[in-house]
Amino acid sequence: PGTKLPKVGTTIFTVMSQLAAEHGAVNLGQGFPDFPVPGRLVDALDGAMRGGHNQYAPMTGIPALRNAIATKSERVYGHRPDADAEITVTSGATEAIFNAIHAVVRAGDEVVVLDPCYDCYEPAIDLAGARAVHVPLDPATFAPDWQRVRDAITPRTRMLMINSPHNPSGAMLSARDMATLADILRETGVFLLSDEVYEHIVFDGARHESVLRHPELRERAFVVSSFGKTYHCTGWKVGYCIAPPALSAEFRKVHQYNVFCTFAPAQHAFAAMLDEAPGHYEQLGAFYQAKRDRFRTQLLGTRLQPLPVPGGYFQLVDYSAVSDLDDAAFCRWLTIEKGVAAIPLSPFYETPPQGQRLARLCFAKNEATLDAAIERLAKL
Ligand code: PMP
Ligand code: GLN
Repeated sequence: PGTKLPKVGTTIFTVMSQLAAEHGAVNLGQGFPDFPVPGRLVDALDGAMRGGHNQYAPMTGIPALRNAIATKSERVYGHRPDADAEITVTSGATEAIFNAIHAVVRAGDEVVVLDPCYDCYEPAIDLAGARAVHVPLDPATFAPDWQRVRDAITPRTRMLMINSPHNPSGAMLSARDMATLADILRETGVFLLSDEVYEHIVFDGARHESVLRHPELRERAFVVSSFGKTYHCTGWKVGYCIAPPALSAEFRKVHQYNVFCTFAPAQHAFAAMLDEAPGHYEQLGAFYQAKRDRFRTQLLGTRLQPLPVPGGYFQLVDYSAVSDLDDAAFCRWLTIEKGVAAIPLSPFYETPPQGQRLARLCFAKNEATLDAAIERLAKL
């Protein structure tokens, strides 16, 4: 039988982490923190497991967590989703993205994605029998060209996917972007999938323009986030989707028969964290901004040129002063020969821009890790 996903191989994140391990490289490739999760979260998880929360959770997520997410949304974005009808807890943002696509996208539909985009989008679209239509972001600023987005929308378009703060660039959509987007979608039946997993990692006093702030947009949107990014626990794979009742009902049909429910003890732990320690997510931007600023200062002592990082935990660097290799070859060379693993950008594109010489470095790391990487990068 022919493969259903001919374009899919092993993800670049796995490939680079394996290469880093084989060659003893400092791993700034795959995005994950190398520091511990909050002790309070571990205690809450331990308490949940010892307290007997080890059987199936309700399909949609435990009420305490859905209520805590609603409260957080109200505090941060001024909008309180209905915890019963509009919030579903999922096994990571990846599951939420998969469900949202499969809930509404049918065979023959088109889904507009903005390149570079995260690697799990297109395979989910392909499995739905639909087609991803790739619209490039500006290669210098990673801002959308809204006219091109407008032009990409056809009667077959079923969904548009956005991601802010953006992986891999860290670019953020502005209030003006959101107003333009609302204008573009107004007369269409296009659904919006907003990937906001880095929602709390924003810098320099900027405000994250969650779709939840925008009444018109949220009426047609699936808003997805992940506790993995917010609580330094990417391996726990717990996230959620907020969508209007009718969309949540369809979303839940997929979730129900995909996983049924998400890891129960962690749901109790995150509910406690959100309610009892809101300071954690409120201070996450400042926490990462200190890492970003220190790392960028260190990069000035190398021949890598750092691009601006408005949000998220990735630093893009232009390596054209160091090498003429294409990005995939450069990242392999950097890992094997120079001992620092990075992620090339080309796998995030359908058509990578000609001559682009950018690599992605993750700064969600201890100072010692970043220092060790800089020591090696300074020798390039
Ligand atoms: N979207 C983006 C933009 C991401 O960077 C990630 C995680 N790397 C995900 C979705 C998936 O999140 P999760 O690990 O919770 O499935
Ligand atoms: N989201 C992570 C990144 O961008 C990788 C997650 C994964 O390995 N699938 O690095």
